[in-house]
Amino acid sequence: MNAQNEVGTAITHRVLILGAGYAGMSAAIQLAARSKGREDVQVTLVNAQERFTERMRLHMTATGQQLAELSIPELLEGTGARFVRGWVTAIDAGARTVRIDDDRVLHYDTLVYGLGGVADTAAVAGVEDHAYTLNGVQDAELLGDRLARLDGGADTGTVAVCGSGLTGIEAAAEIAEQYPDLNVVLLGRQEPGAALNRKARAYLGAALERLGVRVRGGVEVVKVRPGAVELAGGESVAADAVLWTSGTRVSPLAAAAGLTVDERGRIVTDAALRSVSHPEVYAVGDAAAIRQGYGVMHGTCQGGMPTGVHAALSIDRVLKGKQPKPFRFGYYHTPVSLGRNDAVVQFTRPDDSPRRICLTGRMAVRYKETVTASPWPTYGRMKKIPASGAFWPRGGRFTRNQEAR
Ligand SMILES: Cc1cc2nc3c(=O)[nH]c(=O)nc-3n(C[C@H](O)[C@H](O)[C@H](O)COP(=O)(O)OP(=O)(O)OC[C@H]3O[C@@H](n4cnc5c(N)ncnc54)[C@H](O)[C@@H]3O)c2cc1C
Repeated sequence: MNAQNEVGTAITHRVLILGAGYAGMSAAIQLAARSKGREDVQVTLVNAQERFTERMRLHMTATGQQLAELSIPELLEGTGARFVRGWVTAIDAGARTVRIDDDRVLHYDTLVYGLGGVADTAAVAGVEDHAYTLNGVQDAELLGDRLARLDGGADTGTVAVCGSGLTGIEAAAEIAEQYPDLNVVLLGRQEPGAALNRKARAYLGAALERLGVRVRGGVEVVKVRPGAVELAGGESVAADAVLWTSGTRVSPLAAAAGLTVDERGRIVTDAALRSVSHPEVYAVGDAAAIRQGYGVMHGTCQGGMPTGVHAALSIDRVLKGKQPKPFRFGYYHTPVSLGRNDAVVQFTRPDDSPRRICLTGRMAVRYKETVTASPWPTYGRMKKIPASGAFWPRGGRFTRNQEAR
């Protein structure tokens, strides 16, 4: 027997969206807006917290800066979508059910999987036990407590930021700016900003130097232990707090459910963002391995939000008896904050390689802040005008072969 909605109409199609990050929120709002008035379709969004996590600002949380309270249930009001707060513990892809931590079982006809990814704390010994992360608000707050205590201490503390990717750079700059009395050392295999053009990279390096961040590129962290980080070759770097930002790890739920995943555990999708093994499952954001003409997309908000919108558009088309269209996306920028008063924005080709143009200084700060603040108003706009969410760069010739797949 079919479930019924509040007015007693039979619900014939249940769409369950897992994860209310940048990608899952985009899918939920877009689909709820598109299926508004359809009594037979029920959209349910499941997330661990009611408050929306602005992942792109977690380095601000870690340095004691207050963020806006963004309520997911409030945003969904008036869309007809339901919100379920809970931690997903298992997916039964055969029975098409999802179990959450209070033992509730949720049924679906279509699943959207958007559980995101976190820094890989399992790859190096001691990281799980002795390092902080920016994996969620609570993790960032734990680091925040530690930094505040270190800052008030009698001796000058040292913070080692491991991983010289964008998260590591932004975190190191933020900590150095907010806590000028702490020593900050940034450790990583690559020089910071290796993917930027020469001018942007030089600007970034000078900004880190001005903030007092000691950069150690070309090093490999092999162990974290209390009070120190060990490097390949035997050198030990003393650290009162260690922040781990390196690598990406996704939830093991998709693999455990028997979905086809890549070597990193991300769901492998077809051109329309459906799982190649389970076409009733769409994968979006950092948890998905989405191939474009230039390769498999890497996790970003700029690419994650379009994947969510596209999954919603595809589901809407299928519900109307049409075929979903292939997803195409091209990168266009790499904005990097360097504390609150400086930034660098590298404009890119669709395959994420750097163009000649970049912004620096105040212009870049304004640009970066506009980008970081934009998702929440975008969701609000999409609620009223669904088509407003469907604009993103398709990548031109870099992704055109997607049409044929
Ligand atoms: C400090 C920092 C700065 C960044 N800056 C940028 C930037 O400038 N530009 C950019 O494009 N990208 C940036 N990123 C990357 C960007 O934040 C991610 O690519 C983006 O968050 C991915 O979106 P998502 O929706 O796939 O996953 P997420 O945003 O991680 O959302 C996943 C959601 O699923 C929930 N969840 C996970 N597991 C479960 C479970 N088992 N049960 C229930 N809920 C669960 C989580 O709580 C979360 O709400 C940054 C990341 C960090 C950490």
